[in-house]
Amino acid sequence: MYLKSIEIQGFKSFANKIVFEFHNGITGIVGPNGSGKSNVADAVRWVLGEQKVKQLRSSSMQDVIFSGTEMRKPQGFAYVAITLDNSDHHLSIDYDQVTVSRRVYRSGESEYMINGSACRLKDINELFYDTGIGKEGYSIIGQGQIDKILSGKPEERRELFDEAAGIVKFKRRKAIAQKKLEDEKQNLVRVSDILSELE
Ligand code: ATP
Repeated sequence: MYLKSIEIQGFKSFANKIVFEFHNGITGIVGPNGSGKSNVADAVRWVLGEQKVKQLRSSSMQDVIFSGTEMRKPQGFAYVAITLDNSDHHLSIDYDQVTVSRRVYRSGESEYMINGSACRLKDINELFYDTGIGKEGYSIIGQGQIDKILSGKPEERRELFDEAAGIVKFKRRKAIAQKKLEDEKQNLVRVSDILSELE
């Protein structure tokens, strides 16, 4: 699996539609200060479902939409799509190529898609669990992140190893099952209360 392309339109400094094509091997993005290099990484974080504006170096979610310049009007929406080669079926989905996209309008309305079908953020999170790609993954190492990992709490460091070991989805399923068990226990207590009132 590898990242084949990133399409960006109306996101941060990218007013016009732009498509970055990647091939196997290393690709570098170079440019003067402030030209938008980090915005490309932000676009990938955003399409993977990042909800924290701080992580996107913005002050609000609408802030990611191109805000205009002296020469250009602001855009009405931001759109990012990433396409991954999945011919090794590393992602558990029945397609050799997977495109994940996200669009947000100034009104706050937003949509996520997987291969052109509307989906929930939850579906995107589940698609990328244990692959290292998701927003909690380690495929994007931001400035200062290495220091944060080294000086972070052991539990936070553990999360990174869990993701690499591929056990995050099992931990999440365990948490959901435990919650259901707890709910059922409460229901049983209520039933036995009612039964004792009737006796
Ligand atoms: P450096 O090399 O200094 O780290 P960079 O190439 O990584 O810079 P970025 O931080 O990606 O640059 O881009 C910053 C530019 O993006 C700024 O010029 C800023 O005005 C522009 N920008 C950020 N958000 C928006 C937005 N919503 N609309 C228009 N332009 C934006």
